[in-house]
Amino acid sequence: MHNDNFLKNELLKKYNNLSLSQIEQDIKKIVDSFSMKPWTSQEYIFEKINFRDKQYLLDLNNVIRKNHKLQLQITKNSAAKKYWNTILPFSYRVNDVINNNYKFPLRIAIFPGVSCMFYCGFCGRNQKAKYDTSIIDEGISKINNVISDAIVGTKISISGGLEPLTNPRLGRIIKKGHESGFKIPLITNAYSLTEGYIKKNPEIWLLDSLRVSLYGYDDASYKKITQLDKSFKMVKRNVINFLTSRNEMNKNLKVGFNFIILPENYNYLKDVLKLINEINLEIKNGEGINFLTLRDDYQSVTGQDENFDKERKYRLNESMKENERKDLLKIIENFEDLRLQLCPNLHVDYGYSLEYLSQRIFDRGLVKIKGEKIRSYGFSQLSVAIDLHGDIFLFREAGFLNRQGNEKVIIGRLDDKKNSLERNIKNFLSQRKPIKFDESDSRFLDSFDHVLNSLVNQVEEDEKFGIPLNSGPIAFKNFDIKESIGNNWYSDDI
Ligand code: SF4
Repeated sequence: MHNDNFLKNELLKKYNNLSLSQIEQDIKKIVDSFSMKPWTSQEYIFEKINFRDKQYLLDLNNVIRKNHKLQLQITKNSAAKKYWNTILPFSYRVNDVINNNYKFPLRIAIFPGVSCMFYCGFCGRNQKAKYDTSIIDEGISKINNVISDAIVGTKISISGGLEPLTNPRLGRIIKKGHESGFKIPLITNAYSLTEGYIKKNPEIWLLDSLRVSLYGYDDASYKKITQLDKSFKMVKRNVINFLTSRNEMNKNLKVGFNFIILPENYNYLKDVLKLINEINLEIKNGEGINFLTLRDDYQSVTGQDENFDKERKYRLNESMKENERKDLLKIIENFEDLRLQLCPNLHVDYGYSLEYLSQRIFDRGLVKIKGEKIRSYGFSQLSVAIDLHGDIFLFREAGFLNRQGNEKVIIGRLDDKKNSLERNIKNFLSQRKPIKFDESDSRFLDSFDHVLNSLVNQVEEDEKFGIPLNSGPIAFKNFDIKESIGNNWYSDDI
């Protein structure tokens, strides 16, 4: 058992030219930096401390690592806690990524959609592309083989890519996942979540959670984003019917909305709560909407360069400006008051960067990796995505059929058991052909990928600097590993 004062006294003895207050100041600098930016490099910290000696930095890290209160302050109670939720359970695999060792991915995103009926202006999909329906059965069987091979602790989710409910036999994948012992979440736009679809895919009741991407709060706002008439009416009706049936079929299935905050809609955040309240009032047989996730800065993630992804009906060009983010800070404050009034039981997940604003700390937006900083072998040991062709994508925003330039991040294709996920990844890693990325390729990473990429880069840089992961300020090994990888939005995971 190490006592904090004992460790500090040891430091005082060792560095007798420093005062206790200087040492405490340095500890605070490190704690504050990691509470705001988990990807802070040791070299950066080294430049900031009073006494530039690597052993001194190692000793400071040691004090912080052994102080449980500081560990919780940084990773669980800071503005960056959402980032830490992602980072902590993946960190033990980072050295395998750096050394190109094969490991079955910790997280697999399945993209079984055939097409999509919406034309969202921030979406990177190729709006002219759809899968040939003749490949659906083969595609499902490839995906189900991956689920069979998945090891305990793997987190599997179903989303897009395109819209998953355009796959008429989606239930088979959900059933396979459930039978294999995985808790499966589904992300959908809910346009096809009709009684007829559910009748054909009753396995939907085996899901762990269902998250509906919400593109507005009334007819006009929905039409503006999706470009489809009556999309709001359809989605609202489907959600109300689904919740009513959920309360009869499987009360444990959590249902929620995801709302993407854009410059075009951030002023209307309170209308989302009003909509949830309106829907909940329609549900007479139990709970209504369980959770709401808020995500921002989305079109800046999917890419704004007009030279790319031209196959779109329209495109939202702007990302949030600094003054808009400042307004958003105020809006979120009022939003919390209204939430307590209208939906006190609603779990709100602010996601990576809005968490700062919800704690009244100004933040400029998501961490993003650019160009040559993208890992040239990805990080398949941590995460991959798989579509209906059985194509394996290194990054999740690349998983759209024929998205311009995405071939470079497809590392293989599943066929049957002979060409399994494991074999494909092993082939790719053993060929030693690094992918060369340029500036525009960052649009293939979603916000989760950006966080993982930042983590790997940070560990690599720190090691080069002479401070490996285990000598940093975070006691990674104290955090429960596999079980803590989040795979839902209704509790405080990622
Ligand atoms: S964001 Fe989703 S719903 Fe909108 S166009 Fe893209 S795939 Fe379709």
